[in-house]
Amino acid sequence: MDAINLTETIDTDFIKEVAKESGENPSLCYQCGNCTAGCPYTHFFDYPVSMVMRLLQTGQKETILTSKAIWLCATCETCTTRCPCNIDVAHIMDTLRIMARREGKVSEKDIRLFYDTFLSSMRQFGRIYEVGLLLSYNLKSGHLMADADLGPKVLSRGKIHFLPKKIKGAGEVAKIFERFEGKSDRHG
Ligand code: SF4
Ligand code: SF4
Repeated sequence: MDAINLTETIDTDFIKEVAKESGENPSLCYQCGNCTAGCPYTHFFDYPVSMVMRLLQTGQKETILTSKAIWLCATCETCTTRCPCNIDVAHIMDTLRIMARREGKVSEKDIRLFYDTFLSSMRQFGRIYEVGLLLSYNLKSGHLMADADLGPKVLSRGKIHFLPKKIKGAGEVAKIFERFEGKSDRHG
């Protein structure tokens, strides 16, 4: 990992923005490393989660928003549970993903596509329509045969259904999306 010249690239507005949007106080972090020690995906991250927190304290906007770590985070919340300072670290990771999207700096385009396809399925059916989700994701991502070997196994066991099934409250779920979009519009 390359050394980062912190003094040259500090962005104090970014620190304030993340604190405001997440409602968390990253300055409380004293780098104990508990979050990283429990993170199941740390081996795949370019920056361990405790380093993301340190980069945040030092306003390293570009490094954080273009990192792979914020997209490979699975929101398992282990870091949040383990933090002795009660920082909701997983929520900070969420906030950083939202900011990376807004600024067009997403490093892992396939993960963003998967999220979008997943949410679109939720909006349409009120639940996940697995077959549609996988077909749509594979087509759009160009990974045409990804997980194709699993399809017959799970279909034959009745784990997933070939045709979509809407839940009773699908309209209510769609309204949640509408409310969120209205809120996003008002906040730019
Ligand atoms: S929420 Fe993300 S960063 Fe935190 S422990 Fe889980 S995978 Fe790691
Ligand atoms: S567990 Fe909390 S205090 Fe410790 S490094 Fe992670 S964020 Fe910082």
